[in-house]
Amino acid sequence: MRGTITGKTIVCGIIGDPIGHSLSPIMHNRSFKKLGLGYVYVPFRVRSGDLKKAVEGIRGMGVRGLNVTIPHKVAVMQFLDRIDPLAEEIGAINTIVNDGGILTGYNTDATGFLQTLRDNGVQPSGKKVVLLGAGGAARAIGNVLAQENARLTIFNRLQQLSWAEDIAYRLARCYGADVKAVELSRENLQKALPDAEILVNATSVGMHPADDQTPVNADLLHAHLTVFDIVYNPSPTRLLKEAGLAGAKTIGGVEMLVSQGAISFEKWTGHAAPVDIMLRSVLSGLHTHED
Ligand code: NAP
Repeated sequence: MRGTITGKTIVCGIIGDPIGHSLSPIMHNRSFKKLGLGYVYVPFRVRSGDLKKAVEGIRGMGVRGLNVTIPHKVAVMQFLDRIDPLAEEIGAINTIVNDGGILTGYNTDATGFLQTLRDNGVQPSGKKVVLLGAGGAARAIGNVLAQENARLTIFNRLQQLSWAEDIAYRLARCYGADVKAVELSRENLQKALPDAEILVNATSVGMHPADDQTPVNADLLHAHLTVFDIVYNPSPTRLLKEAGLAGAKTIGGVEMLVSQGAISFEKWTGHAAPVDIMLRSVLSGLHTHED
């Protein structure tokens, strides 16, 4: 019976803390059901002190795979058997695959970002890119953009500018990337944006409930930009609405969320993910999560 949990049901899930807001359970469970797969996807709230035990539980109970979210994306790596080379370079994972007790970590945020960019007809190679943020997502995105030979400027707030400098240093060293780090300020954005071709917001500015905020003032946006805001709630963000009004091409975080989820889904099940169902599930989940 489709959708019924039986003795043969295969378990996947997500670990994080908090976890109640995650849209991944609705996205994956509806997709399993649509394809008639005997899988279920469960949210697990795992506190940092319990992370090692949680990973042992994956092996012990034969869980097929997990997504990993804040705050475990880096700390969990030490407990896995293998790390995919891209995830190793990024220094964080968000997906675990269990093959007969051997746990491998992947970073599908990075590949999901690049896939989404390409699906929208944007090739980053040689392009001048303004990347806002130096957190976990920015690190993953910076990595794939550097591998694609984009010319990067990474912006972060002055207090944590060293995070952006650290990313820039590593990307220059690993890939010989053309990359620099600067303070996130209006003055610096004003210098960098006029001839930039791609603007990526990888900060959490504009995320619900701060829907009225934006990391870049509307007057700095222009029609020659592709603006990719990885924030997915709200959808669209204020930044994307204003980018659209300025005539820029816009790409939203929901597409990236679906893309990274689809890559994880395919690794666990071996089936092509039903991305249309995933997209609809996320959008309906966003709607019901509004508070
Ligand atoms: P994170 O590691 O906590 O990093 C947050 C970044 O935002 C840091 O660079 C931080 O700067 C910056 N920031 C926060 N508040 C700011 C403010 N008021 N002004 C300027 N900068 C500010 O988080 P993350 O995991 O990278 O995630 C960032 C965002 O991306 C979140 O909204 C998350 O939901 C979203 N995301 C989306 C996807 C997707 O699939 N669409 C995937 C991953 C993440 P400081 O270093 O100065 O604090």
